[in-house]
Amino acid sequence: MTQDILLTPGPTPLPPQVREALGRPIIHHRTSSYRALFKRAMQGMQTAMQTSQPVYCLTSSGTGAMEAAVANLLSPGDAAIVVLGGKFAERWQSLCKAYGITVVPIPVAYGDVVDPQAVADALAAHPKAKAVFTTLCETSTGIVNDIQAIAAITRKSQAVLVVDAISGLLADECRTDEWGIDVVVTGSQKGLMLPPGLAFISVNARAWALVDRATCPRFYTDLRLYKKSLADDDTPFTSAVPTVVALDEALKLILQLGVPQMIQRCALMARATRAAASALGLTLFSTRPSNGVTAVTVPGGVDGKQLTKIMYDRSRVMVAGGQGDMAGKIFRFAHMGFISPEDVLAGVAALEGALAELGYKCERGKGVKAAQAALGRQAAAAGATR
Ligand SMILES: *Cc1c(COP(=O)(O)O)cnc(C)c1O
Repeated sequence: MTQDILLTPGPTPLPPQVREALGRPIIHHRTSSYRALFKRAMQGMQTAMQTSQPVYCLTSSGTGAMEAAVANLLSPGDAAIVVLGGKFAERWQSLCKAYGITVVPIPVAYGDVVDPQAVADALAAHPKAKAVFTTLCETSTGIVNDIQAIAAITRKSQAVLVVDAISGLLADECRTDEWGIDVVVTGSQKGLMLPPGLAFISVNARAWALVDRATCPRFYTDLRLYKKSLADDDTPFTSAVPTVVALDEALKLILQLGVPQMIQRCALMARATRAAASALGLTLFSTRPSNGVTAVTVPGGVDGKQLTKIMYDRSRVMVAGGQGDMAGKIFRFAHMGFISPEDVLAGVAALEGALAELGYKCERGKGVKAAQAALGRQAAAAGATR
């Protein structure tokens, strides 16, 4: 069977070591050997998330950790600032509304990033706002927000900063403690190179003060239960044993290469993909592109939905289309996790083929050549983990 080449921003391809770990006989989660593994994995997550604060692990997709942030930090009637600009940013707004939070939205055009000054202005206009919700890599538009600048501004207010780094972690820089981000959420199926099913949340002392006072209803996501269990290297509810065992393996690969090198690897794939897009006369959708995902505007006269379908049908290369209003208007190549230079080249070749089939005029092979040049000698080194 021809293997699919996943160039999607979740799920991402799994390294062989992770696949092997997923196939091992299951062990019980309340044993000393599992506790030791869980402890090691959570310490590894602290390194991956660049924080000395505890990291809590939930059995859910990434959105579960987003919900945990809202339910644990706020009380009904509280005001929260939500930076918009994409489908995932809008999820913060939906979550806040579900819990009776008054949302102060900061509108941002799709493909654009928030001006940090807009966050400063919103905080000045709403001094009682308890939290600022934002997104590191907005996967739906391919941008990366300037979280460092937003953190510097938010730290001067009484609000806590919550960052959705679900797709951005290990792709874009996210210096949790150094930049002063209070809460970071992430998920397993993107840069961590795991199947979907685990979500993580780091909470610093400033944010924890809110957890103790919040009155939003919560049960499965009640972080007070997770804190108590973590003291015994345990979870309050049954741990997703095989996925955590696989996390331990993935973290070995990540820590062996190093967090900065993981990010550089993504950046290299991103540069190669963008060089190819530009050589083919295509334009990027994002004003400040993330290393994790490249969003490209579908050229005029080309059917965007057909484009991604042809890439998959002919070449088994899976890229993401546009979500919501962006459907058919953009397509997205992911670079995060276990995606190799060879995958990037296969993706570009598939794109060239599909563009030609749909009548787009460009010189065949020009994209692949540009990607190869960008990958250059570094490709061998970057491919070493594969
Ligand atoms: C993937 C993703 C999510 C979470 O999605 P789940 O399907 O719940 O895992 C949230 N935010 C961003 C930016 C994402 O890329």
